[in-house]
Amino acid sequence: MAAKILDGKALSAEVKRTVGLRVDALKERGIVPGLAVILVGNDPASEIYVRNKGKGCEECGMYSRTIRLEEMTTQLQLEEEIERLNADPAIHGILVQLPLPRHLDEAAALKKILPQKDVDGFHLMNAGALMNGAEGVVPCTPKGALYMIHSTGETLSGREAVVIGRSNIVGKPMAMLLMREDCTVTVCHSKTKDLSEHTRKADILVSAVGKAGFVTADMVKPGAIVIDVGINRVDGKVCGDVAFNEVKDVAGWITPVPGGVGRMTIAMLMSNTVDAAERIVSGER
Ligand code: NAD
Repeated sequence: MAAKILDGKALSAEVKRTVGLRVDALKERGIVPGLAVILVGNDPASEIYVRNKGKGCEECGMYSRTIRLEEMTTQLQLEEEIERLNADPAIHGILVQLPLPRHLDEAAALKKILPQKDVDGFHLMNAGALMNGAEGVVPCTPKGALYMIHSTGETLSGREAVVIGRSNIVGKPMAMLLMREDCTVTVCHSKTKDLSEHTRKADILVSAVGKAGFVTADMVKPGAIVIDVGINRVDGKVCGDVAFNEVKDVAGWITPVPGGVGRMTIAMLMSNTVDAAERIVSGER
């Protein structure tokens, strides 16, 4: 039987509608939630992501500002720009578009963002909060992926979840979120032996690897929820990590690429920005 499609377009529209209502409520109090995106250099993929973030803000009625810095920007210049945004009352969320050019220190730059304006959730304080089950900003991509998993209506408690990938921005926070849902979580990575042994047990399988066609039908448990985070380009076309055409005949639920997790990432960025504005307005830190 063919898997049900988890439609990122429809689900992200649902999230953005709710965000829009919260933005309206803030505007009635004279506050326009604002997101600043810092883009260093001219990476074409980053250009597209930044444009989509600006469009997301527009759809939700938020203010957005893109700060373009030259490829050869110094660490000091980048950090001074972050400091300016930290102090700017019109800006509630700050995002540094990754990857940065190689000469810049990503971790040091992210540490400069005020944790309450860190709408990507990459600051160590927010990463630590997620790890400890405390209040904090949750990274947009895993948050969006979890929203999609919840939309299936399936019970998550006690289910086997396998996350392929252990990056700080997707794999690790995804694993934390699934653990918080009482799943039994296995994290696989480039050194994992017998990957299929693990993935075939997964009721929920999340792939965040970055290799087209990486997850094949024989690796998937029948009926599983398959979340494809990967974004790859093959012959100029965007695709995920999952061999969609064959896996859809085995999985119970599947996300397409494009039109899947990527859309949710933007919607969750909007949601994190309005959260930040509400927190700042109410004086919470
Ligand atoms: P990354 O390169 O930091 O991490 C990739 C992970 O894959 C690593 O942890 C590595 O151990 C694992 N891996 C590599 N080869 C493997 C193998 N043979 N077997 C098992 N694991 C293996 O990448 P990332 O930043 O986590 O992103 C992963 C993918 O998700 C990329 O395609 C990226 O473009 C995409 N992404 C999508 C969104 C979105 O909004 N949809 C957001 C962020 C990242």
